[in-house]
Amino acid sequence: MSEPHDYDVLIVGAGFAGVHQLLNIRKLGLTVKVLEIGEDLAGTWLWNRYPGAEFFIHRLQFGARVDSPSPFYQFSDPELWQDWTYTEKYPDWREIQAYFRYVNDKFDVKRDVVFHSRVASAHWNDLVDRWTVTTEDGRVFRAQFLSLCTGIGSKHHIPIFKGIDTFQGDVYHSARWPEKYDFKDKRAGIIGTGATAIQIIQEIAPHVAHLTVFQRTPNLALPIRQQSISAEAEEKLKKDLYPVFFRRRGQTFSGFDYDIDPKSVPDTTPEERLLAFEEKWEKGGLHFWVGSYADLFMNQEANDEAYAFWREKVRERIPDPELQEKLAPMQAPHPWGVRRPSLEQRYFEVYSQPNVTLVDVNKAAIEEIVPNGLRTSDGTVHELDILVFATGFDMITGGITSIDIRGQDGLSIKEKWANGVKSYLGLASATYPNMFWIYGPQSPAGLSNGPSSIEMTSEWIINCINYLKQNKFSSIVPIEEAQLAYSEHVDQLGAAALWFKAKNSWYMGSNIEGKKVQMLQFPGGLPAYAKLCNDSATDSYDGFHLKCSI
Ligand code: FAD
Repeated sequence: MSEPHDYDVLIVGAGFAGVHQLLNIRKLGLTVKVLEIGEDLAGTWLWNRYPGAEFFIHRLQFGARVDSPSPFYQFSDPELWQDWTYTEKYPDWREIQAYFRYVNDKFDVKRDVVFHSRVASAHWNDLVDRWTVTTEDGRVFRAQFLSLCTGIGSKHHIPIFKGIDTFQGDVYHSARWPEKYDFKDKRAGIIGTGATAIQIIQEIAPHVAHLTVFQRTPNLALPIRQQSISAEAEEKLKKDLYPVFFRRRGQTFSGFDYDIDPKSVPDTTPEERLLAFEEKWEKGGLHFWVGSYADLFMNQEANDEAYAFWREKVRERIPDPELQEKLAPMQAPHPWGVRRPSLEQRYFEVYSQPNVTLVDVNKAAIEEIVPNGLRTSDGTVHELDILVFATGFDMITGGITSIDIRGQDGLSIKEKWANGVKSYLGLASATYPNMFWIYGPQSPAGLSNGPSSIEMTSEWIINCINYLKQNKFSSIVPIEEAQLAYSEHVDQLGAAALWFKAKNSWYMGSNIEGKKVQMLQFPGGLPAYAKLCNDSATDSYDGFHLKCSI
């Protein structure tokens, strides 16, 4: 076997986080490589490319797309944004892939990326202060620093269903979509009604012979209010406001240009509230969620008002009272906003089409998958040619725990986290020196716009590595007590709000059987998170142990 390649930094994953790390570590003059499972850049948007049916000659209207407005779904480097303009306010996967091609053309990203490389293990050696990283096919790399940019949704999840192997039609998970698939005249079934399902349902419903949707929890989706972007208007926006946007995003809870309203509901009049709700509703996107009153997340009564507003808006669009109750029930399925709301354009209208059936699996559970479809507990066999699993991901932790990562005490991180994640600052873990992650457990992750919090954490890590190199430290590792205090802080912030009231929520890990239920993200907003990270850095990395080079 040839000698392993040795680098200053190894990065795992080539999405936003991995590319940001790579470009900035290069600037430090350090040696760096990225290992990536896929065949290209783009991360999430390389894998999530549903429905991808090439027979749709029109532009995809509803397929996999982002729910962050386009100025915020890109890197903040002016060299990049000055020459790039998305064509839609909420771009789809094709445009985001095109964006990554553009970034590559500018900076030759790919010269430092090794594609088709799934990292299987990473073992720390305390004697030499180095990670040994092995890919699934046996290639070995070494590095002083390991940067896990594996994403919050890189491990897709398919629940166990009896009879799945007997199905004679086509079966796909939404994150493993084929290059081409023709839905025309097919009888399609889709399990799940999360963000992905909503996008697929809207896109395929007009084209399939029949669509059966199996719903566990109604999706409290919000209107997207998609817009085309005019290049001229965007040029003006770039000149006047882009720099402000990029500064502002770090000052708001979720990393956009608008923020949660600190006013509490009881301090406002009903009229004021109604007008505020209307205004946010009309703005579309996530305004009604992370642009609304702060106490919606803390106070059930305030939350009920938001739900009632949402319910009435949605019910207006559903003529059938039975469907109204399934899609927008009088009794909220969970507090408003404790699961991430999806964005939709005509989702609620789809169910009024004669070729669409909505099955509530709380009333008729999925019992078995049979050769010609799926049988529910009421005895009905739903005949299907294609079955789509829009069943989500082992979110937030799955990408990291899928790798056999062993630190100073030889325990794998999967074992360490079996009874719950513990981290320091949502970016590192005690006994795993010189290892960081971005947009992962106990960071703001899915409560924030991806690029906003990714760049924040990535810059912190780059500054930290630079500090260690400049000051001749060979390793850095969180101190157990600091880790415990941080993790308890995250738990307390989580427990003070209504998050725990949602069942099957990926925010809490409760969508995966056997996973410890805990608040998996830092729920205090980007500014509070940045302060904790920056305070530690300013205080010579308080909460970490730093080891001098010999
Ligand atoms: P990713 O983009 O997920 O990239 C991680 C990369 O790591 C992948 O390419 C993967 O192949 C690779 N990888 C993982 N494990 C290994 C391994 N063991 N070895 C080698 N490579 C590995 N965020 C928003 O802000 N707005 C949205 O609207 C939004 N929508 C989303 C929709 C979906 C369906 C999903 C899954 C996520 C969405 N997100 C959204 C979150 C999104 O992941 C982030 O915005 C952003 O793309 C994260 O970038 P990343 O680099 O951290 O991770």
